Amino acid sequence: MVSSIESSVGTERKVVTELPGPKSRALHERRKAVVSAGLTTGFPIYIERGEGAIVVDVDGNRILDLGSGIAVTTIGHAVPEVIEAVSAQVAAFTHTCFMVAPYESYVTVCEELAALTPGTHAKASALFNSGSEAVENAVKVARLATGREAIVVFDHAYHGRTNLTMALTAKNMPYKDRFGPFAPEIYRVAMSYPFRDGRSGADAAALAISEIETQVGAHNVAAVLIEPIQGEGGFIVPADGFLPALSEWTTKNGVVFIADEIQSGFCRTGEWFAVNHEGVIPDMVTTAKGLAGGMPLAALTGRAELMNAVHEGGLGGTYGGNPVACAAAVATIRTMRDRNLNARAREIGETILSSLRSLQQDVAIIGDVRGRGAMIAMELVQPGTKNPNATAAKSIVSYCNQQGVLALACGTYGNVIRLLPPLVITDEQLADGLSVLCAGVRAAG
Ligand SMILES: *Cc1c(COP(=O)(O)O)cnc(C)c1O
Repeated sequence: MVSSIESSVGTERKVVTELPGPKSRALHERRKAVVSAGLTTGFPIYIERGEGAIVVDVDGNRILDLGSGIAVTTIGHAVPEVIEAVSAQVAAFTHTCFMVAPYESYVTVCEELAALTPGTHAKASALFNSGSEAVENAVKVARLATGREAIVVFDHAYHGRTNLTMALTAKNMPYKDRFGPFAPEIYRVAMSYPFRDGRSGADAAALAISEIETQVGAHNVAAVLIEPIQGEGGFIVPADGFLPALSEWTTKNGVVFIADEIQSGFCRTGEWFAVNHEGVIPDMVTTAKGLAGGMPLAALTGRAELMNAVHEGGLGGTYGGNPVACAAAVATIRTMRDRNLNARAREIGETILSSLRSLQQDVAIIGDVRGRGAMIAMELVQPGTKNPNATAAKSIVSYCNQQGVLALACGTYGNVIRLLPPLVITDEQLADGLSVLCAGVRAAG
């Protein structure tokens, strides 16, 4: 079965029609009649199947995927271990509701989360369907456990699109505009953004802490919620020392430190979690995206005394920790371990960084190249300034798309190109994708 998939998909990018092709264009017309215009697709090629780092569209184009569906298919498309686990689970049963009639795989996922998340303290988890839902539950538990209300978040943060998580998210357009009113008791403070603030980690943390103490009051704060590397905000890696200083402050002040690892977790940065790069041990961790090989699953993992402070029945949901998604997660985590994908993420990161940094020498629109492991971005600027260049980002993404490469933009200013390749991408595929990307950057510069 596996080899027939390989031979039918192929490992090389190959464009055989104009993009999007005629079948994709026809589907897009059908879609416009029935799908909300509030959902947009940057590159509307309709996908039929995938394998590793390649997706094949309905017109037979083989597209190289450098986005992994926004950091979800970290272990690649159509992974045999996941296909097998999911197929067996679908055949056995698809749903009972964990609160009605439980099953082993939910417990196994929570055991894995307890073992893999930082720190050797006792931990407990609860499983959900989306990242937003995990973040919402982190806020619920932190408020209940501390008896406090204020939640501190950061400039450029992205935490989701539900009402509470919109409030936690920084960027107005397109996420929040006219969708209010938003949930109260959310306070936003300065993020460490080395390219733009030039501050050391210690100085940036001192600023954020002073904002919290003067504008909120430490004793009112239930939690500090932060992405250890910001995702949608522009792959902003805080200066060294920023996260440890914040974490230390939360511990001193009885505040829950929540790391939102939904995008940065599960091997993406070359560690199980991005906080591992600085030895930070969060009180709670939210995960989703890379966790279940493409199946919808999210988790909140925290210190047992926090997670178990909740009254019976206080957490849950109909679908949370669905057995098919749990089976996929168990197989995904095993695959990450077996194939040593943390090491592979670091290799991929070195290749991308060296390629983009050498390009930066002769292209004036690249202001910054940053990231860890296979979570790397370049921030585009007007030559000779730090003024954001969103036009260049758009034209580079569209150039890549036309060549059959899926690449994604992000950033508060829309001027960041981010790379999130599946970690099973081959060296040849990566070199091919980078040569297309670099040509796109040169054309835009
Ligand atoms: C994607 C994301 C979320 C929201 O997850 P959904 O599954 O889309 O609800 C939250 N936080 C971060 C850091 C994310 O990248």
